[in-house]
Amino acid sequence: MNDALMQVAGSSKYADMFEFRLDLIPQPNIARLLNSTRKPRIVTCRPEWEGGSFMGAERKRIEMLEMASAFGADYVDIELNVNPRTLQEFIRRKKDTKVIVSVHLFDADLFDVTKIYKALVATGADVLKFAFTSRDAADNHLAFRFLSLAKQDAQKAVSIAMEECGEASRALYRKFGGWATYASPEAGAGVLPGQIPARELKDLYRADRLTSSTKIYGVIGHPLGQSKGVYLHNPLFRRAGRNAVYCRFPVTDLDRFMKFVAPFLSGFSVTIPHKQSIIKHLDAIDPTAKAIGAVNTVIRRGGKLCGTNTDATGALDAIERVTKVKGKRVLVIGGGGAARAIAYEAKRRGAEVLIANRTERKAKLLAKEFGVRMVRMAELRWADFDILVNATSVGMFPHVDESPVPKAILKRKTIFDAVYNPPMTRLLREAKRVGARVIQGTEMYLNQAALQSELHTGVKPKAATMRKLISRLK
Ligand code: NAP
Repeated sequence: MNDALMQVAGSSKYADMFEFRLDLIPQPNIARLLNSTRKPRIVTCRPEWEGGSFMGAERKRIEMLEMASAFGADYVDIELNVNPRTLQEFIRRKKDTKVIVSVHLFDADLFDVTKIYKALVATGADVLKFAFTSRDAADNHLAFRFLSLAKQDAQKAVSIAMEECGEASRALYRKFGGWATYASPEAGAGVLPGQIPARELKDLYRADRLTSSTKIYGVIGHPLGQSKGVYLHNPLFRRAGRNAVYCRFPVTDLDRFMKFVAPFLSGFSVTIPHKQSIIKHLDAIDPTAKAIGAVNTVIRRGGKLCGTNTDATGALDAIERVTKVKGKRVLVIGGGGAARAIAYEAKRRGAEVLIANRTERKAKLLAKEFGVRMVRMAELRWADFDILVNATSVGMFPHVDESPVPKAILKRKTIFDAVYNPPMTRLLREAKRVGARVIQGTEMYLNQAALQSELHTGVKPKAATMRKLISRLK
């Protein structure tokens, strides 16, 4: 009970309404809960059969909701699946309290959004709520669809794709005409996957200020747990004065995402594992992305999806802030998307490129394709180079104690690590210790994000702005 009251106090700066989940509060004092805030209050007592924690008698549960109504709750949430007579009685007897009728689907494979919407409308509820477990970011479109149906009929509605991959459905509710969304309080535990803290929803996404003309951007990839793009691009949109928002879309099924959600997007960043597989979904890709064979940025131009790659320029600009690459030997460790981008751009800028990779076959193919030399990992200690680039994921969180190369080869060289989480990797620490110049992956991240932002907004962010934003990243 005290936890609930503390959560109200802690998040009242950001919340416009509060929901009291009686089923989650031990021995709830309904009057005290309702008196803890002057903002509109929703009271819910979710039964176990609808994914909640209330296990008592149904009659007792309905009595608690009726009591909440008698004590002046602004809204009471009741499930569509209660006994139909109970529901009708409840709606008939409500006085000043408005009724939210809700449907929660967990682990449902197939459902008909229109049918669920119509069943909710038929109850005569004041607010319709539909929440369902999402399995992929593509499922966000089901929430968008529900809200769009309600908007057409001027019905107040809430729709949430639960789980992490449905995060965007919470951030974008206003864009699709939703009445409200549910956020986690600032303080305390109990944050569900995909729930966005109220402070972030307001300050970062500005979710309550989005309109039907807000442009949607985002990042697609899987997993996206470490992705920091929302913390850069949302503030950059604000600074550029754009009515735009940037969300995380954890995509596993790229085909479904491109069919159902991409049509709503004005542009997006692409990360592992979709940098190559995205290409077949695009209308055009620029020559750099084509040569690299990987796209990390997609922009919509005149209705067409165009792919480009800002990793290459981002990495080489970071290196060239410290030393020019023309005429130097650049040893790239890796055979994936980052290695391809960096090797391509280093060569284009006049460097002699060498490639080494754990899977030698990949290094060999890459070296042949780009017309550069391959070096065996086992022979690295004899390699002659000026600049070493780590374009593998070795050293990345959580494997922070690993380094892709022996420290003996780092002496007095320039070392660039594309890994940016953590910013100071074991490779860079060891390189520093033996007197090498080091460049952190955050520099590349900052450059490629600035280029993406310029593509999205038409405004090039200042380096100082980017540094400030990067320094605030958690
Ligand atoms: P990717 O396409 O999946 O390639 C991964 C590379 O890492 C492959 O060469 C792989 O070798 C190698 N690798 C993975 N685990 C290894 C291990 N235990 N030992 C040795 N090699 C290993 O990934 P990517 O897109 O190229 O990204 C690579 C790194 O660059 C990631 O850490 C990513 O975060 C970083 N990156 C940073 C930025 C930035 O802005 N700073 C931008 C893009 C990427 P095999 O071929 O043998 O599997």
